[in-house]
Amino acid sequence: MIQVQKAKSIIKDHIFPLEMENVPLGQAENRVLSQDVRATFPMPRFDNSAMDGFAARSVDIQGASQSHSVTLKVVGISSAGSPSELALGSGECIQCMTGAEIPAGADTVVMVEHTSGFSGSDSVQIFLETPPGKHIRKKGEEIREGDILISKGTRITPSEIGTLATFGYGEFSVVKKPRIAIFGTGDELVEPGSKLRSGDIYNSNLYVFAELVEKIGGEVTMRNVIKDDKDALRSFLSRALNTCDVIISSGGVSMGRFDYVRDVFMELGVQEYFWKVAQKPGKPLFFGSGNDTLIFGLPGNPVSSYIGFMEWVWSVLETMMGIPESKPTTGILTEPFPREKVKYRYLFGQAWLENGKLVCKPTIKIGSHMLSSSLEANCILGSEQGEIPLKAGDEIYVNILPWKNIQ
Ligand code: AMP
Ligand code: MG
Repeated sequence: MIQVQKAKSIIKDHIFPLEMENVPLGQAENRVLSQDVRATFPMPRFDNSAMDGFAARSVDIQGASQSHSVTLKVVGISSAGSPSELALGSGECIQCMTGAEIPAGADTVVMVEHTSGFSGSDSVQIFLETPPGKHIRKKGEEIREGDILISKGTRITPSEIGTLATFGYGEFSVVKKPRIAIFGTGDELVEPGSKLRSGDIYNSNLYVFAELVEKIGGEVTMRNVIKDDKDALRSFLSRALNTCDVIISSGGVSMGRFDYVRDVFMELGVQEYFWKVAQKPGKPLFFGSGNDTLIFGLPGNPVSSYIGFMEWVWSVLETMMGIPESKPTTGILTEPFPREKVKYRYLFGQAWLENGKLVCKPTIKIGSHMLSSSLEANCILGSEQGEIPLKAGDEIYVNILPWKNIQ
C-alpha cells in the first residue's frame, strides 16, 4: 500500500501527451487548443464608427449646439461593408453607419440624434459639437496584430469559438481526443432497463464513466460489461491495449475470489506501478501501462469508482490534453470531517461561499456503496490521515466538480 502523494507522483512520470489534429470551427466545442492562436490582423481592422451618424471634421463643428447649428455638406455614405472612397474636405461630412469605415479626413462622429437626421438632402444641420475621436473605434485598440489571442491548452468554449471566428480561423489544430476503453466486471451486473434477478445489481459505473469521459472531451472507443471470466477479459483488454490511450475499469481489482482483472493485466504484459493506495474509499487502485496505454483499475463500489475517476483519472486526462494543472483549492469546514488513521479520506461534499470565503461540509452518507451521496454534492473533499476528525473551522482540500456551480 502506498501513500496518495507518492502514487500521484508515480502517475505523473508516465503521462504522455496526445497528438494533434485539425478540426473545423463548427466541430471545435470542448476541444483543447494544441497551439497558441494569434491575431492575424489588428482589431478593429480599421477605424470605424461606433454609432449611426455623420463622420465629420471636428474643427468644422466647434461650437455647434441646439441653438447654433452648423450646416455641413453631405458628400457620401459609408456603411458596414461599403466604405466610402472619398476624403472629406472643409465643411463636408459623410453619413456613416455603425461599423462603417471612417473616411479619410474625418476625425469625429456626430450621432444622428444630434443632427437634422438622415435624408436625401445634400446638407445636414449639426446640433452638437463633438471632439476628435468621439464615437470612433480606433484600429488596433482592442488587439494588435500578432498578439496571442488564446493560449495553447485552452478548452474551447463559446468565447473561444467567437474569437476564432472573428479572426477568420475556419480550422485549426487541437489535441486529439483521448481514446478510452471503459469496462466493468461482475456476474451480478445488469444493464439499466432490464429486469433484476435476485443478487443482481444495475451497472451504474460505466454510465458515470462514459459521462465523465464525454465531459472531459475524450472518446469512449470501447465499452463493455465483462463477466467474471478470464477469457472474455483477456480478449477485451488485448484489443484495448492495441487501440486505446487509456483503459479505465471498475471492479474486479479487489481481493475477492473472482477479481481477475489484475491477473489478466499481468498476463498481457502490463507493467504494474502500484495496486493499493492508502485511501478510503478505493484502496485497491491499480495503475499500470502497456503498449503506450495507461491503465487505471478502479474498485467497483460506485462511490469509489466515481471519486476514483475524479481524483486519479480526470487530471491525468487533462495533462495528456495539454491543459495546465490548476492549483488545488481549499475550503473551511463548517462541520467535522471524519479522518482515517492511516488512509487519505475522500467524501462527496457541498461547498459554497460565505462572506466571500469558500466553506464546505461532507455528505453524511459515508459508505462507498452510497452513490446518492453524490446527488447533492458539488465537490469532493479530501483529508490526510489523522487520529481525530477535522473540526469546523479547519481547512480542507476541495475538488469542485467542474460541471457544478458554487452558490
Ligand atoms: P468489486 O470491486 O468487483 O469487488 O465490486 C465492489 C462492489 O461494487 C460490488 O458490490 C459490486 O457489485 C459493485 N459494482 C461493481 N461494478 C459495478 C458497476 N459497474 N456498477 C455498479 N456497481 C458495481
Ligand atoms: Mg466484482
